[in-house]
Amino acid sequence: MQYIQLNNGVRMPIIGYGVYLVDPSVTERCVMDALSVGYRSLDTAQYYENEAMVGAAVRKSGIPRNEFFITSKLCLSRPSYQRAKENVKGSLQRMRLDYLDLMLIHWPMGNDGEIWAAFEDLVKEGCLRSIGVSNFYPEQFDLLVRNASIIPVVNQIETHVFYQQRPMVAKMAEAGTAVESWGPLAEGLNGIFTNPVLTEVGAAHGKTAAQVALRFLTQQGIIVIPKSVHRERMIQNLDTLDFDLSDEEMEAVRGLDTGHNLEGWPSDALSYNPQDYRR
Ligand code: NAD
Repeated sequence: MQYIQLNNGVRMPIIGYGVYLVDPSVTERCVMDALSVGYRSLDTAQYYENEAMVGAAVRKSGIPRNEFFITSKLCLSRPSYQRAKENVKGSLQRMRLDYLDLMLIHWPMGNDGEIWAAFEDLVKEGCLRSIGVSNFYPEQFDLLVRNASIIPVVNQIETHVFYQQRPMVAKMAEAGTAVESWGPLAEGLNGIFTNPVLTEVGAAHGKTAAQVALRFLTQQGIIVIPKSVHRERMIQNLDTLDFDLSDEEMEAVRGLDTGHNLEGWPSDALSYNPQDYRR
């Protein structure tokens, strides 16, 4: 495994296993499979309603807790400092864990400054090792860090070959915040698994289009958390750090950028012209 050193010195695996839309009834089995093939970083969220099953698999595995990197995400209506603190403690209770390696604000919720102050205090109390954000775009990110004592360690945003997020990647590098890709396989949309460019690059390395799409991100230092409920695909997605794309191959994949997101989430309103971001 390769690691990204976060801005607080903590090391985070560059590949993790995400469990969005993994049905709670199969989450424990899927996470056990993921652990058995070598994943140690797990990405869940309160919103996914499968935190408890992730925690159950972690305990059942018998793997020492300090070998894991476990992320969850807060989702809160009417946010306040107190409610944010209670909410995070709810995640710990559901997962039956003493601490989380990373807690994210799932998306800007309003009153994010109060949530962040609660997160910062939970770091001091030892409940959270690292804290970050998700789906924060320039305005919301700048607003949050203006009064923050701790700079977010990651910003988890939609990032994949079809939406490469070059302005955000540059902005996060400047801020010292790692980019973590959600939907690193474009959620299976846009014909990604049969895309001719990815397939051709893959053929040169004995890899699939999916593996090329993941390597394109990790080669830039972007953390990925692909989701699959199939063991053989979990293995395939992990087996992506033993090859490098050449400069020409990176350039060819850069050409797939559309400059806009696939699903039109309102928080992803950052469209840009990929031509302005040529190397
Ligand atoms: P993804 O890009 O990981 O794609 C998943 C799809 O690709 C699934 O349909 C799966 O069957 C298929 N797939 C996976 N590996 C494959 C392979 N090797 N070959 C062929 N098909 C393959 O999409 P995702 O699950 O939405 O994103 C990954 C993770 O990111 C989520 O599980 C979740 O943890 C996180 N996430 C976060 C947010 C957020 O708002 N922060 C939003 C969405 C997802």
